[in-house]
Amino acid sequence: MKYDFLIAGAGLFGAVFAYEAAGRGKRCLVIDRRAHIAGNIYTEQIDGIHVHQYGAHIFHTSNAAIWRYICQFSEFNNYINAPIAIYKDELYNLPFNMNTFSKLWGVKTPAEARSIIEKQRAESGVTNPRNLEEQALFLAGRDIYEKLIKGYTEKQWGAQCKDLPAFIIKRLPLRFTYNNNYFNDRYQGIPIGGYTQIVGKLLSESDVRLNTDYRDFIKENPGIAPKTI
Ligand SMILES: Cc1cc2nc3c(=O)[nH]c(=O)nc-3n(C[C@H](O)[C@H](O)[C@H](O)COP(=O)(O)OP(=O)(O)OC[C@H]3O[C@@H](n4cnc5c(N)ncnc54)[C@H](O)[C@@H]3O)c2cc1C
Repeated sequence: MKYDFLIAGAGLFGAVFAYEAAGRGKRCLVIDRRAHIAGNIYTEQIDGIHVHQYGAHIFHTSNAAIWRYICQFSEFNNYINAPIAIYKDELYNLPFNMNTFSKLWGVKTPAEARSIIEKQRAESGVTNPRNLEEQALFLAGRDIYEKLIKGYTEKQWGAQCKDLPAFIIKRLPLRFTYNNNYFNDRYQGIPIGGYTQIVGKLLSESDVRLNTDYRDFIKENPGIAPKTI
């Protein structure tokens, strides 16, 4: 057989597998039905900008070994994901934290914020949430629900919060610190030079065939490798 492994998918998983296998002397063929490597983390340079074609990807981990591993292949910038929500031309930091509460109510301390949330929760009168609206009111009170949950959720689900089941929101993380960082992980960033070059390096010791669907390929090449990943 020509290869030790046939790997279906040239995304991050397939590429890391191929790199590790090749490093152990194994011959790998990586196939992908797309016209490019890197799967969903594919980035393409357009007018000097690395565009994340399948949506923005931020690398984040709390595992030092994983961070050291990925840093072999690229330098990372110091990007911290700190999203901002717009409600009727007002800007709010997400995830909900003291910056959000300060903007909403002019409060400075966690105690002041907690007290407003508790008051609004009590005013909602909800004790046993029957739908998503009641669940959000029960967890976070009216202001946070109406300004920062309702519109976003209804757009995402294409339905009214009153018509959605309560279990969709199990808990709402409320941070009582001035910390806008979306992730809690110790290490975070975006690779300088984009993700595609990382995957290119991971695949450098393997053969790669693009525009190749596994189901068709394996019918035509049943004996290509003893193991398929
Ligand atoms: C919009 C968006 C944002 C995200 N943001 C983040 C983020 O910020 N941070 C983060 O850690 N993760 C994020 N993720 C998740 C991240 O994209 C995935 O965890 C990661 O890319 C998965 O890698 P993978 O190799 O398992 O899969 P993929 O990247 O999906 O690669 C699988 C590959 O297999 C190929 N394939 C599938 N079927 C076949 C077949 N039959 N024959 C041949 N090839 C086939 C596909 O074409 C694809 O290229 C995000 C995902 C999306 C969609």
